[in-house]
Amino acid sequence: MGRFDRHTLVPGWDQQRLAGATVVVCGTGALGSQCAQALALAGVGRLVLCDPDDVSESNLSRAPLFRADDVGRPKAPTAARRLAELSPVTRVDARTAPLVSGVGLAELRDASLVVGCLDSLAARLQLAGRCLLAGATLLDGGTSPWGGEVRLYEPSGPCFGCGLTDRDRAVRDDPWACADAVVPETGASAPVSALIGSWLAVTAVRLLCGADTTPGLVRVDAAGGTAVPVTVRRDPGCPLHTRIPADLVAPVPETVLSTPADLTAHLAPEETVMTWAPLPGSAPTRESTRLADAPPRARLTDLGVAPREILPVLVAGRTRRIRYLELSEAGGKGTPR
Ligand SMILES: [Zn+2]
Repeated sequence: MGRFDRHTLVPGWDQQRLAGATVVVCGTGALGSQCAQALALAGVGRLVLCDPDDVSESNLSRAPLFRADDVGRPKAPTAARRLAELSPVTRVDARTAPLVSGVGLAELRDASLVVGCLDSLAARLQLAGRCLLAGATLLDGGTSPWGGEVRLYEPSGPCFGCGLTDRDRAVRDDPWACADAVVPETGASAPVSALIGSWLAVTAVRLLCGADTTPGLVRVDAAGGTAVPVTVRRDPGCPLHTRIPADLVAPVPETVLSTPADLTAHLAPEETVMTWAPLPGSAPTRESTRLADAPPRARLTDLGVAPREILPVLVAGRTRRIRYLELSEAGGKGTPR
């Protein structure tokens, strides 16, 4: 039998659609590894893995893609190498930057699906906000000691932030923020990561194949032997529901390898390009989000700008207006890397 012959016997399975799909997986720890492994074996055509962390000793008991020799190596490229061995039909693109610098809004917008396998509240909120800006569907997962949650958010429906209080939504990822930015360490194990990671992957495959999938949250409790749908309503006070209007986005030939000086060719004198994250470096550029404050010849990638990012442009004047520039893919739009 061929590699995918058993798949063809599954009602609703569409191998061709899976082969043509791109899935962005944010976080490649235990949950992300389990989910990405199942998606690659299922024959998903392209995976973009984003994780700024290195493999640690504690990952070895839960993440099937890492070996003892990998400790200290970056997670995303290490996982990408193992996935390439498992699934020769899957192209895997590894990003080692934090989410906001790792995957651009145009990549999120054009992905077939975005999967969140993150372990902090701040990172989940950031991913939810960026998916809403880009109009991307987000499948988010999290584990508890004996279970977890799988949450499917469509751009027009409730989001991860809708289920939180204002205080939780105000959480920041700064290490010095006093709010509870990182979820306190809870018990975790390979069986539970495999359970929730596989649930994410099954939901992803059904979505990608065009099979019926219900948006919302499923709470899985292996100790109680239950999986219960939980209703999440859109909170009118949730500030994350801003979508970039497509007609305000101007594609430019510049890429993440271009410089702030290159982008000024597309600006009127009263316009300023902004970044989504503060610029790196020392004062006064640190904390600034104006590209004009960066060295004009620095590459955008070195300034923390993500590939195929959509950058806001502020138009000064009596009525403050905003438009957007969309960076092209480095190496040519749509060119495989
Ligand atoms: Zn919301």
